[in-house]
Amino acid sequence: MKRITIKDKEFDIFITREVIADAIDKIATKMSEDLKDRNPLFICVLNGSFMFASELMKRVNIPAEVSFVKMSSYVGTSSTGAVKEIYGLQEDISGRTVVIVEDIVDTGNTMKQMLDQLNAKNPKEILVSSLLLKPEALVQDVPLNYIALEIPDAFVVGYGLDYDGYGRNLPDIYQVVD
Ligand code: 5GP
Repeated sequence: MKRITIKDKEFDIFITREVIADAIDKIATKMSEDLKDRNPLFICVLNGSFMFASELMKRVNIPAEVSFVKMSSYVGTSSTGAVKEIYGLQEDISGRTVVIVEDIVDTGNTMKQMLDQLNAKNPKEILVSSLLLKPEALVQDVPLNYIALEIPDAFVVGYGLDYDGYGRNLPDIYQVVD
């Protein structure tokens, strides 16, 4: 068992790069089939999705545009917690098939806010792809079209996901040790 330390926490290896690559292969194949006639625009959410987006987009072998956005960390509060806003979207998405590419869907609150803000711009449809999903933590009813891997409700780092800014560059996924 490989154990690493990031700042004040310890993490054990949880999902290897081989398992991740296989899971991404599967959803990329499905996307390439499903979306071949839809001229999709992939909107990748930085920073967390950078490694997933890169591996995914290399495997999606159909005509597609790839773009990047960020969610502001905080612009107010609501009953569901922090209100986040999308920024950096340059493309006109009206009438387009949009695929959101995220690192992880936990409660689904962030994804819900992103969907509401993008739906207001009149796309033809929005599909959701995420490297990871924590089904036990999910509270929002959001579409989950292309999920690479489902994991239990515990904090993970690596493959783009960070702990306090660190760990994003790890090529495998690690789970926190309680
Ligand atoms: P949600 O809004 O779905 O609850 O959470 C989404 C965001 O929380 C993700 O985009 C990510 O930034 C963060 N997050 C949730 N779970 C984890 C985790 O296990 N590890 C890391 N590094 N970030 C997480």
